[in-house]
Amino acid sequence: MSKSKDIPIPDTITGYSQVRLDVDLTNGKIDKSTLSNEFVRDWIGGYGFGAKILWDELKPGADPLSPENVFVWAIGPFPSTILPTSSKYGVFAKSPLTGMFGMAISSGSVGAQARRAGINTIVIKGKSSEPVYLVVDDGDYYLVPCEKTVWGKGNFETEELIREDFQDHRLAVMSIGPSGERMSRMGCITNDRNRQAGRTGMGAVMGSKNLKAICFRGTQSIKVAQPVEFYKAAKKLIKVANGPATSKYRDLGTPSGLTSYNKLGMMPTRNYREGTWEEIDNGAFTGDTLNQDWIVKKVACSQCSIACDHIARVPKTHPEYPNLIASVDVEMCYSFGTNTGNSDWPTVFKCIELCDNLGIDAISGGVTASMACELYDVGLITKKDLGYELPFGSTTNLVKFTEEICMGTGFAGKIFGDGCKQAGIRLEEMGRKNASYYGMQIKGLEMPAFDLHGMTSFAVGESVSIRGACHLRNGSYGLDAKGTFDRFGYEKPLERGKKIIETEDVYAIIDSYIICKFTRGIYENDAEMAKVYELVTGIPHTEESILKRGEAIVNLSKCFNIREGWTRADDHPPEKFFKDAHTKGPAKGVTLKEDGYQTLLSGYYEARGWDKETGIPTDDTLKRLGLDFVIGKLKPAATKGGKK
Ligand code: SF4
Repeated sequence: MSKSKDIPIPDTITGYSQVRLDVDLTNGKIDKSTLSNEFVRDWIGGYGFGAKILWDELKPGADPLSPENVFVWAIGPFPSTILPTSSKYGVFAKSPLTGMFGMAISSGSVGAQARRAGINTIVIKGKSSEPVYLVVDDGDYYLVPCEKTVWGKGNFETEELIREDFQDHRLAVMSIGPSGERMSRMGCITNDRNRQAGRTGMGAVMGSKNLKAICFRGTQSIKVAQPVEFYKAAKKLIKVANGPATSKYRDLGTPSGLTSYNKLGMMPTRNYREGTWEEIDNGAFTGDTLNQDWIVKKVACSQCSIACDHIARVPKTHPEYPNLIASVDVEMCYSFGTNTGNSDWPTVFKCIELCDNLGIDAISGGVTASMACELYDVGLITKKDLGYELPFGSTTNLVKFTEEICMGTGFAGKIFGDGCKQAGIRLEEMGRKNASYYGMQIKGLEMPAFDLHGMTSFAVGESVSIRGACHLRNGSYGLDAKGTFDRFGYEKPLERGKKIIETEDVYAIIDSYIICKFTRGIYENDAEMAKVYELVTGIPHTEESILKRGEAIVNLSKCFNIREGWTRADDHPPEKFFKDAHTKGPAKGVTLKEDGYQTLLSGYYEARGWDKETGIPTDDTLKRLGLDFVIGKLKPAATKGGKK
């Protein structure tokens, strides 16, 4: 197996600008330096850069909402080239939701403008004494005080006002809304109005630093190592990206999944009480209906011909939300639709708009609202608490609840404004016993749109995710959906573990390049993915060596979590899956089995080369991946392991 040090570094590296900015918000100093050739070869971009910088520069045990937290912004070598879906950026910090490795990735125009401005990575430390935004304008970098201009404003207005100030509509702006400013642990970052770096509370970290926005514009060109060969390779990929491999994202969009997940009993309904929904069965709440009745436009990010962004518009005659516009994907159809038992489309759109504009992650927001609906149903919160009723199927009151959790107002904002985990803790402190049971989160991050009752492979894949409940770390829901293994059974733990790891390591590279996972299918194989990297950067990574870097990135971010106190018990789905069964559908009567789950979890650890019991990477594994610098630095508490 190759180690990255065996990969030669060419005289000139292209693609990357290799420019790193260090911004100390406490004293307002901005320093520019160069990322070393070894660093870019070994850590690839986005996720890899974030993992290495946070390991090296974040003090273990730091409070995520204190000036000690380190906020890393990074791109890979591809933005501003013609590689499909490559205008993406990532943000990384210790997460205020999970207390572990935080990461969120967004599309739009930010990556492309940043690359044209000549920037690869920004590392932000400290805290400004007043609200500011950071401007990266070609070779100029400066902070702009903004207490009297955009602080307190929603994301949509912030973007418009800053662009107006620059008299430049091309200026790319990533900002936080009032939720991030008040450090809601669900705080997200919005750019290009409809694109979010949503998960793990990265907007709250910006808010804790008094950083309202980062703006980019640039005019610089980008060099690639082998322009003719790269042009040929990219042209082929663009052609495939315009064909059947991605048509589902372009046509009905991700909401097409409503029907397919529902058929398999995997569509979380009424806070995971069921995995099928009558409103999907009867055609009222499907991707087809959404597209026929509400979608008016499909929009693409920079450097993308797929155009997966489905824009809904409510007619101007609508009594409550005339002319409302929202960007809709399946996750929001779940979080504010199936999971709250709400099939009124304009209500879903309004909740999305509130989250995107005021600035909370719309998955976390909707799953927190679903928790509240169930707590209302079982009597653990009441109309007296909220000031209104909140049964499953609420519409106007669901919107009211969503606005309150965004703004931190009312009972809803005070109790639920930091997500499910904090809501459970706060309610139990008030004597509402067992309230946490209804919060569907893993490691503190609210769950995405898959019901785990009949998904034994994904129960492991989602639980081991470095950033908390996530379908985008390894995509192992596919193992259950495609029937690779018995999705109700627990056999073949090692084989399942290996399959989860296969995609997890590739996804780590995709998130380091950074490109959309929707394009995974346009590459013939991982070798082609490695080849485009070489054509752009000149660094001759092979399929084997680049995947090894993916493995190293996953391992390093896992080690970050261990250093922050992770134990095996953190890799566990909510108890509800082990106790409450569906009453209908393919997973009727089924619950997860603790022993079976633990067997599969041990299989994953073993396949990873981690201690089968504790889940800690062994020294041999760390050495094999060139992570020797981690050895001896993992928190001893984690080595105790233990089962839930
Ligand atoms: S596939 Fe969708 S999210 Fe990805 S770049 Fe294209 S439009 Fe943007």
